[in-house]
Amino acid sequence: MQIADRCVAAFHYTLTNDQGEIIDSSAGREPLTYLHGSGNIVPGLEREMSGKRAGDTFNVVVAPEEGYGVHHDGLVQSVPRAAFQGVDTIEPGMQFHANGPQGPMTVTVTAVDGETVTVDGNHPLAGQALHFAIEVTEVREATAEEVMHGHVHGPGGHHH
Ligand code: ZN
Repeated sequence: MQIADRCVAAFHYTLTNDQGEIIDSSAGREPLTYLHGSGNIVPGLEREMSGKRAGDTFNVVVAPEEGYGVHHDGLVQSVPRAAFQGVDTIEPGMQFHANGPQGPMTVTVTAVDGETVTVDGNHPLAGQALHFAIEVTEVREATAEEVMHGHVHGPGGHHH
């Protein structure tokens, strides 16, 4: 069957950036399973998955607008070192949970300069084109409960 709304699809993927560096991959792990049409995966990839069948392989480049969003400079902030109470060492790459204007968000430390720490609230992949190499491994109909919940149950999905 072909991937369409109310289908559960499983796929292997390798994600690389513009420089050809591997950012993430399902190689050696279980394939990623998702409910099609529910925004479980980035929009640019979900659209390309439509109509594919088990066994199909394809490559797609997803623009930031259809991936993890464009990079917002306003989400980059300098905060005093003292704001990180109870943290002994702060280094670039560390992630913290913070309360942003739209609720909880994850920020990544991008620079530490003396008593000033620069944090970036953008998704780490914001502003990047996503190069996906995809292999569809399974397509099945979603259960009514999965459609109601908006996510997959069972292997590769939610257990609750
Ligand atoms: Zn559920």
